[in-house]
Amino acid sequence: MPRIISPSYGPHGVSYPPIPQLHQHHHHHRSYPSNGPPSSYPTQPSPIGSTGSGSDRITRADSKSDGPVPDLKTVNLPRDCLPRFLSIAAVNTARNRETCGLLLGRDKGHKYVVSTLLIPKQHATSDTCTMDEEELVLEFMEERNLITLGWIHTHPTQSCFMSSVDLHTHCGFQRMLPESFAVVCAPSSTPNFGIFRLTDPPGLQTILDCKAKEAFHPHPDVPIYTDADKGHVQMKDTNLEIVDLR
Ligand SMILES: [Zn+2]
Ligand SMILES: [Zn+2]
Repeated sequence: MPRIISPSYGPHGVSYPPIPQLHQHHHHHRSYPSNGPPSSYPTQPSPIGSTGSGSDRITRADSKSDGPVPDLKTVNLPRDCLPRFLSIAAVNTARNRETCGLLLGRDKGHKYVVSTLLIPKQHATSDTCTMDEEELVLEFMEERNLITLGWIHTHPTQSCFMSSVDLHTHCGFQRMLPESFAVVCAPSSTPNFGIFRLTDPPGLQTILDCKAKEAFHPHPDVPIYTDADKGHVQMKDTNLEIVDLR
């Protein structure tokens, strides 16, 4: 296992958001108890292959249950980021292996703008993706004066949702930069992508307070995460640079 830079507990007094622990285990795990969500809880995505209805799109808080609208700066995400990432990931996806990337950009004052999709060195399985040689990523970001605004990864065969491990990974980003977002691409599922953030409140603090030792574990029955693409993340027809460090 490579060393993982811990965004939450590392000694770095960094001025940029952290490198996530890009290491997911998805299958068979749910972020709430196995007896299913209560009616007030966001609908859990159905298992792969059990639905094509798109009803699993609503897997988290909707805007009504997300509490007060968070005071977030807009983040512009190039519209072609998703298809281009999926194209890059296609070889792995066909072999049932995850792919991960970082969405880098700059603070433009009144908004953040994603300019660069960085594909780090990584190794993956069907349900894990682990970044290698993170120092190369940090070097690149420092040289180019870029910050991490979000992260993106594939679920080659699984549906589009945030696993409990994904939630903890993302927590490290969002506690550093409230605007941080997570993109999940699930090319074999419907819907085939989602852009997410932890609710705040209560999701962010819930995950921060979670001391579960198991990689996968249930969380309290509160809306933990929500869509960000109906909120502060906006698709724009802007240029995207792709840097592949592999
Ligand atoms: Zn995942
Ligand atoms: Zn947890």
